[in-house]
Amino acid sequence: MSNRDQKFDLHVIPDLLSQPVVPEPPAQDDKEAQNFEKYLIAMSHIPLNYENPGLLDEALQQIPLDRLSQEAEEEVELFQAKAASLGKSKPEWSHQECMVRALLRWFRRSFFTFVNNPPCSECLSPTNKIRNVAPTPEERAHSATWVELYACVTCGAYERFPRYTEAWQLLRVKRGRAGDFANVFTMLCRALDIRARWVWCQEDYLWTEIYSEHQQRWVHVDSCEEAWDMPHMYYKNWGKKMSYVIAFSREGAVDVTRRYVGSPDALLPRTRCSEGVLKFIMEEITNLHRPKYAPDGETRLRLYREDVAEDVQLRSLWSATLEQSRRLKAAAAAAARGGRSSPDNKSGANMMGSPATGDIKRPIPEDAPVPDVPSLWPTYGP
Ligand SMILES: [Zn+2]
Repeated sequence: MSNRDQKFDLHVIPDLLSQPVVPEPPAQDDKEAQNFEKYLIAMSHIPLNYENPGLLDEALQQIPLDRLSQEAEEEVELFQAKAASLGKSKPEWSHQECMVRALLRWFRRSFFTFVNNPPCSECLSPTNKIRNVAPTPEERAHSATWVELYACVTCGAYERFPRYTEAWQLLRVKRGRAGDFANVFTMLCRALDIRARWVWCQEDYLWTEIYSEHQQRWVHVDSCEEAWDMPHMYYKNWGKKMSYVIAFSREGAVDVTRRYVGSPDALLPRTRCSEGVLKFIMEEITNLHRPKYAPDGETRLRLYREDVAEDVQLRSLWSATLEQSRRLKAAAAAAARGGRSSPDNKSGANMMGSPATGDIKRPIPEDAPVPDVPSLWPTYGP
């Protein structure tokens, strides 16, 4: 079976996505897969821009650390009190996550402004978009790739909205759209020395993930929506369908689609390459960036164990999603047959009222396989 046949089959039979996939490089005659590989590698360099110490220092100076730290302290106490009242040994979130939650509130409410049409800077009236224009040399020097031109509805003055790509420039202008929010917020997390991923969705949206040491897992953070740990909000609340969701950081790249697509119906066809090729590209990017950040064996071992645990977690999420989908379909079919009672009918009805599987805090299984560390770098993985 050729690569191309296989990748279509993989979408038709999504159960296979819950099985381990063997990485394979793009075939020499598969231009589409090769282009996707180049595109993802180019994208993977964006979060590396955050790792500039001077830039992180500048970012840190913008954050009201004392205020956020105090807020985090107060919230931790609330979580501790809640845990104690429920007889739990540890609170849901620790100081580290509460610090990110405080950062998230401050960032969305006080620091960064969402702009669709920029208001007129002469009279503050609304504006209408005219067209896109080329950036001036100065705008280009500040990382603008194009400029949206608007006209004021009252005084007729033109308003330029340069579309900057670099986080350091967005940090200065403090306004933008969802992608700009994700860009700057991810950098601010890095400024707080929190492990953060810049998450790209092929269907035109971006957000952040941070690593919770307390819960030993990656947590979804959408700074534009001020959303914390709600990975299913896109498909559930927005009805958004997605094909590829990739998390990039200095630690590499991971296909995290299954964390966000909580229903097979919300998964768009994944046709840009086979699943094996995608896995190959993820490992290729990880090999490209991780050694510079994690040159020592101990860090590599820790990250490798985390990779394996996350892979197990994502596959179990997807298996549960498919199982839930089957039950719902069986329940619907049984109802269509005249509401005859059947085991599927009962379980399906129950599932409808229960929270989506992905929203349940699913601990990483203690018996998750931890293979030996790969002895040769950059050969990554088993
Ligand atoms: Zn005006």
